[in-house]
Parts: sequence; structure tokens; C-alpha cells
Amino acid sequence: MATAGKVIKCKAAVAWEAGKPLSIEEVEVAPPQAMEVRVKILFTSLCHTDVYFWEAKGQTPVFPRIFGHEAGGIVESVGEGVTDLAPGDHVLPVFTGECKECAHCKSAESNMCDLLRINTDRGVMIGDGQSRFSINGKPIFHFVGTSTFSEYTVMHVGCVAKINPEAPLDKVCVLSCGISTGLGASINVAKPPKGSTVAVFGLGAVGLAACEGARIAGASRIIGVDLNANRFEEARKFGCTEFVNPKDHNKPVQEVLAEMTNGGVDRSVECTGNINAMIQAFECVHDGWGVAVLVGVPHKDAEFKTHPMNFLNERTLKGTFFGNFKPRTDLPNVVEMYMKKELEVEKFITHSVPFSEINKAFDLMAKGEGIRCIIRMEH
Ligand code: NAD
Ligand code: ZN
Repeated sequence: MATAGKVIKCKAAVAWEAGKPLSIEEVEVAPPQAMEVRVKILFTSLCHTDVYFWEAKGQTPVFPRIFGHEAGGIVESVGEGVTDLAPGDHVLPVFTGECKECAHCKSAESNMCDLLRINTDRGVMIGDGQSRFSINGKPIFHFVGTSTFSEYTVMHVGCVAKINPEAPLDKVCVLSCGISTGLGASINVAKPPKGSTVAVFGLGAVGLAACEGARIAGASRIIGVDLNANRFEEARKFGCTEFVNPKDHNKPVQEVLAEMTNGGVDRSVECTGNINAMIQAFECVHDGWGVAVLVGVPHKDAEFKTHPMNFLNERTLKGTFFGNFKPRTDLPNVVEMYMKKELEVEKFITHSVPFSEINKAFDLMAKGEGIRCIIRMEH
């Protein structure tokens, strides 16, 4: 490719300061270094994790920064030592990587790669501690190793999953984070038995995908819990059978759920990021066998408090990143689930905007409207 080995000038949406609208700037994107790839992003979408770190209220502020981690694109060029990706490959970036060599990558049970595990405070590449983005020589920081709000981005090869080139990138881009996370939290981690009852806290994209996963696993009652009543109608399409709005009750939601389910739900999946919802999600599972799974990203000072008796009574608390999927090994198979129509992603995509209007996607999320908004890069 004509651009390989050269700096590419392209457009990126830069967050100069916490909470201020992104501004589209011309950035310089350096060529990929050893074990890195440069990817032309075609579609990206906004996930709540981007918004949390952009607001930086309960998180470490790292600015100026290029956010974005849910996306689909095509490899433009590869750095030294990259053998399993080549220019032209269709890929999904992932915020947490898979080096394939560490103890975690070798364990069938973990996706918490030692080398490439999600690190939200790091704004540089792990190879040399530098950023590949700059404006007039001034570095612009990366976000979770992906920074997809740019026409081109540089990623470690371990944070890039190669997928079926026939899969439409404008649809499967949402599998790069939120949808796979929720789906995996249910099917890989909560593992609801057939006929069981599952409570899902938070009916955003991740929670709806958790509902979908619970449905696919064969749960017969799926109870959605959300403070936003507008979410409820939508959730039915994802297998949700009942709804609870904690605001409609004058007792703790754990008690409401216990009454509805003869003592507690069999499984719960928390997809809010709210510490109270995390505690409720744990305390609402049935003693003896209940399993709760935390997925939401908490405030950095949040503390989980519950009485130890809740554990002694044989309840299990788990947490997961990226639904326990190994990004490079498993994500291509999630894409195949879509290709085989076992998983419908279209119903998660409610809005679409051109890159120049990326701030509209932030407004929609702030208003709690829709599920996923696809941002179309305009190369
Ligand atoms: P979202 O904002 O679209 O959805 C969150 C929903 O939770 C909203 O509908 C909101 O009304 C609801 N909610 C908030 N507080 C609540 C409470 N106390 N009780 C009940 N409902 C409540 O967000 P999303 O994109 O679906 O992401 C959900 C969470 O998952 C976020 O915290 C995000 O950062 C996290 N996440 C985690 C991973 C992971 O790998 N662990 C990956 C992606 C996203
Ligand atoms: Zn690893």
C-alpha cells in the first residue's frame, strides 16, 4: 500500500478536555511499530465506557485523547513481527487483548491477558510508551489501546480480531464491545440453566445483550431492572419477560425480586456501572445456588459492601470483562453466530450519524435514547 511506512494525515475526533464536545481535527497517525497494526476505521459506535472516561468524573483524566473502542475496519499496514494479519483483513478492535502467550491466554478459563489487559489510564502504546497520534508534533493520547474515533488508528496486534470478510462491518462493529460483553456475561459466565430465572440490571446495549444471552441459554423468566421506564418496551424484543423499576417500590429491589421469584433469582447480571445496583444484583440471587455477575464499570472510588452471610448462604459473585470471550480466538465465532442468524445485531442499532456529527451520539446516550448509534467514517 502506498501509505505503508508513512505518516497518515486524517480526521479524528479529539477530546481536548473532560466533558467538552469532541472536535474533528486533522491528526498525524504514525506507522505501526513492532507487533502493531494500522487500521482504517469504517464504522464505530459509542459505548458508555467512552462517555465515563470522557466525563472523567469518577475516573483518571487523560487528555487530549481520542476515544472509541467499538468499531470495525480494514488493516492498512502492519508493523514488524506481525504474521497473522495482513493489509486488507477485516477486523474488530477490542479494548482488552490476547497475546496468546501468557498464563491467562493459555488458560481456558481466563481472558485477562497479562500483557494487553484493559488499562483505562494508559494513553500510549505498550511497545515504546509513545502515542502514535499527534497534532503539530504534540501527542494526543490513546484510549484502551483502540482509539477508534479516528479515520486511522494504531493498535497492538493482540487487540485486533480478524473476522469473516463477508460480515457487514456496519452491523458487526457493535460486537467489538458491548453486545459481546453482555452476551458472554450470560452464556459464558452466568450460564443460566434451562428454565431458570435471570434478573438483568440495566437495559442499555450491554444489558439487552445479556437478556439475549439468557434467552439463547434457555432461561424462561428474564426480569429487566432499570430506573428508566423507557427501556422496558424495547427490552421485550431481547427476551425480557418482566420489568421492575426500583423507583416504583418503597422497599429495596432485592426484596421485590425475592417476592416475585419465591426467594431470589437463579442468576443476575449487572450492566449499569452503579455500585448500588451491583450490590442489589448480588443480594437478589437465591441462596444455595444463585450466581451474580458484575459487568458495569464502577466509579473509581466505589466500594462493594454486603454482609458476609450472603456468601455463606451459598451465593456466588463473579465479574467479567468482555463476557469472558478471548478477543482473537472467540470474537470471530461471535461474528459467525450473527452470520448464521443465531444472533441478531440489527435490533441493537437504533441510530446512525456521519463522523462529522459524532457529538450527536453523545447527546443520544446522555438522553438515554436508543441503544447503539453507528458513527460512519467518511473516507
Ligand atoms: P447504558 O448507559 O446504555 O445502559 C445502562 C443502563 O443502566 C441505563 O438504561 C440506566 O438507566 C441503567 N441504570 C443506571 N443505574 C441503575 C440502577 N441503579 N439500577 C437500575 N438500572 C440502572 O450503558 P451500556 O453501554 O449498556 O453499558 C453498561 C455498563 O457496562 C457500563 O458501566 C459500561 O461501562 C459497562 N461495560 C463493561 C464492559 C466489561 O467488559 N465489563 C464492557 C462494556 C461496557
Ligand atoms: Zn496474554
